[in-house]
Parts: sequence; C-alpha cells; structure tokens
Amino acid sequence: MNKRDFLKNSILAGTGIFAAGLSSADARSIVSEDLPFDAVEGVYTLPPLPYAYNALEPHIDEKTMKLHHDLHHNSYVTGLNKATDAVAAAIAANDYTLIKHWERELAFHGAGHFLHSIFWQIMGPSAGQRSTDLERAIAKDFGSFENFRSYFIASATAVEASGWGILAYEPLGDKLVILQAEKHNNLSQWTSIPLLVVDVWEHAYYLNYQNKRKDYVEAFFKIINWDEVSRRYSQAKK
Ligand code: MN
Repeated sequence: MNKRDFLKNSILAGTGIFAAGLSSADARSIVSEDLPFDAVEGVYTLPPLPYAYNALEPHIDEKTMKLHHDLHHNSYVTGLNKATDAVAAAIAANDYTLIKHWERELAFHGAGHFLHSIFWQIMGPSAGQRSTDLERAIAKDFGSFENFRSYFIASATAVEASGWGILAYEPLGDKLVILQAEKHNNLSQWTSIPLLVVDVWEHAYYLNYQNKRKDYVEAFFKIINWDEVSRRYSQAKK
C-alpha cells in the first residue's frame, strides 16, 4: 500500500469525511470534464490541451502555450496534490498546527489548476457560437454583447498585478457577473460551490465572544441546518 492509499484508507476508516465507500464506477461518474481529476488514483491531473500548441497562433504563440501549459499549469497540479496529501495527513493525525499554510496552498494551487483547466477549454481555433440562452443572458445583464465585451476587457485589463478576468454565473440573483480575481486564489477556489459557510468577521461574533473566535465556531456547529446543507450538496452535484 502506498502512502496515498494508506492516508485515504486511514481517513475513510477514521472519520468517514471522504466518500471512501465509492466504487470506482461511482467515483468516475462524479468526474467533471472541467476539473481534471483521476478519481481512481485520487489525484488531480494535468489535462492535455484540447488542440495543438500552435493552434491559437498568431494570437497566442506556440512557445507561450507550451511553457504555460506544461510548466506553469503542471506546477499547480503538483502543488494541489501535495496540499491535498498534507491535509489528509493532518486529518489522520488530528494535528492542525500547519493548517493555515496548507489551506493557502490548497487555495493557491487549486484555483490555479481549476482556472487554467477552464482557460484551455474556453479558447480554441474556431469561434463556435453563443447559445440563445447565453445571448439572452448577456443582453439582460449587460445590455448588449458590445457592452459585455467593453466591460470584460476593461475589467480584465484593470486587474491589479497578477490575476484573472472572470465572467461568472451568480445563482442567487440568476445573473451573469464580471469579477476580477487578484492572483487567483485569495483563499477561494473559483469552481467550488459553497455548501456550508461561517462568517468569521468580528462583527459576526464580537459582542458575545470578543476575541474567542474558536468558541463561536464551535457554537456555530450546534446551529447548522443539515437539511439545507444536504439540499445544497445534492443541487451542486446536478
Ligand atoms: Mn497562467
């Protein structure tokens, strides 16, 4: 048994946090095209480019694509797997002394891996066609395609230092939104769907708990509505 299997098994046996009982067929069925992940091995993988390195020339050159995909993106995959293993080891050992570091690594490499995986897919040598639904949503939320284009370009150009321009779907308002990501993480993973959230800004607990944030988070666990969290989980899987 290798280290990864050992960790996986010990975690599954110990806490049941991960869906350890999945058959490999079940596991495969939850693999998303957008999130390259080998469910059987339990590791994130570098997806191959869906076209040749020179397919986007003259707009993006072959050498840039090679460096960007093979080196930059690959380092996020490696970093994400390393962070995933470290978190598994922390759970197994019930030792969270380095959790802040590993959460940062998880967010940094996870967001890097997920965003690049989307980036390669949403480009291509042929332009394709916007669906009627997307066209309608763009018109509803930005006024016109031209407005959307100007806004997106202005927003992406204005990202401070390194980052991303992002067109996203905001499901509560059923709206398209354009967001800037500085770097790409700032402790988020852009493709992840929130299921359970706790506000740890001081305004959420200071009157009762002052500086005892841990007491507040422990109390929070007694008031979670698991029906709603479960509902969100089954929605997210659809
Ligand atoms: Mn990049």
